Amino acid sequence: MFKIKIIIVLGLAFLLASCAPAKPDQKTGVEARFEYVKETDILLRAFLQDMPKGGDLHNHLFGAVYAEDWLRWAEEDGMCIDAKALALRFPGHNGCDALSTAKTVLLGDQVLRNQLIDKFSVRDFVPYSGWSAHDQFFQTFGAMAAMPSRFGDMVAQTANLAGEQNVQYLELLHTMELFDTILPMVGGIALSGDADADYQTLMASEFGQELPNMVARAKRDIDIAEARKVDILKCGTAQAMPGCDVTVRYLNQPVRTLPLSAVFAHTIFGWHLMEQDSRFVGTNLVAPEDDFIALRDYDDHMEQIDYLYKSLGPRNVSLHAGELWLGLVHPSELRDHIQKAVKIGHAKRIGHGTDIIFETNYKDLLKYMAEHEIMVEINLTSSDALLGITGNEHPYLVYKNAGVPLSFSTDDEGVARIDLTHEYMRAVKELNVSYAELKHYTYNGLRYAFIDADKKADMIKVLDVKFTAFESQF
Ligand SMILES: [Zn+2]
Repeated sequence: MFKIKIIIVLGLAFLLASCAPAKPDQKTGVEARFEYVKETDILLRAFLQDMPKGGDLHNHLFGAVYAEDWLRWAEEDGMCIDAKALALRFPGHNGCDALSTAKTVLLGDQVLRNQLIDKFSVRDFVPYSGWSAHDQFFQTFGAMAAMPSRFGDMVAQTANLAGEQNVQYLELLHTMELFDTILPMVGGIALSGDADADYQTLMASEFGQELPNMVARAKRDIDIAEARKVDILKCGTAQAMPGCDVTVRYLNQPVRTLPLSAVFAHTIFGWHLMEQDSRFVGTNLVAPEDDFIALRDYDDHMEQIDYLYKSLGPRNVSLHAGELWLGLVHPSELRDHIQKAVKIGHAKRIGHGTDIIFETNYKDLLKYMAEHEIMVEINLTSSDALLGITGNEHPYLVYKNAGVPLSFSTDDEGVARIDLTHEYMRAVKELNVSYAELKHYTYNGLRYAFIDADKKADMIKVLDVKFTAFESQF
């Protein structure tokens, strides 16, 4: 009898304890789990890996591919290796001539393989006098190469890496019809700097005549790539891979370090492509913003976009702007890039925006960005590698406190050898981002996506369902 009483008392005590409301400062459920796991890196990684993620809105397709994939395709496609320069090269009419065939040389040479992987990325990289991580990062793009037919393979690999981490949506920055077509066609044309006159000049040239063919070819190339992706990932079959569930869209990517004529022509091409192919949802200028030509022509690039926006009609624009820092460039270059991207370049999103507090009247700019919901795409590993900015040096808090929308993205996950989960981890560990904030930012990856409104609404509903399931575990 005594025993029964004790059991009843203990049972009641347990019931009362489990029904007692949590103290106001005491987190429960998924919040409590997050607070617990964030003390241990590997538990945090596991938690964030499973956590549903909206979109990765800043992801360069060529930078997303891992070195091992470039090498595998090189072996399969008869590509050549310049062992001295540590670079992949296309075969000529006589094969690889003096260079080595990738298939032959890579098979038994683990040292060379490792050297190439390091060359194509920042793996094991230690900056040294005269060669920074910034230099290492951007040289990779001249060393990596693949046959155009690998476009679909790249999309498949990138989508699958996203799908494995429960990422729902990718906007991949991709350059089409530039180096073999537009650049040789217009590279020698001198422009005046007057956007209207320059537009007429370009459209009256061979470029204008060829433009419809380029757009048609790009559309066909995306059709082929998408079909290849479906094939590689076995979508629609019982063996469908995680990447099949990832919705992919593309951003046109003119290269801002090329001659002004090539940048304008490629932006015009993108404007037409966006109109004719709904898979291309926006445009974004790429290549180092601190490059001499990129700095010199920055205002002209903004004027070109403004001209197209007003004369051919609005399109979605996201711009790398303010990916600069004190010391990297002359201080005068830190004063107005974000401002001009937003107000002249019609940017709805800003990539990086790291130099914000160096901008003239930056507080007004922040207010403007918050009011107009101009989102900032934050790429923590990239800012660390390219600008040396980590932790509290990053202007995350400046943007957050001003109410500017934010989202985390990868930038170049293959070159940096990271993934989106890694960036979320950095956000938690370095910026002390809470679970609720992280969830908000991951939704921003869909809310500020350039995909059409109906599809976006559907994706947000799917994310709601995923979060309900994820959070109910805890
Ligand atoms: Zn970028």
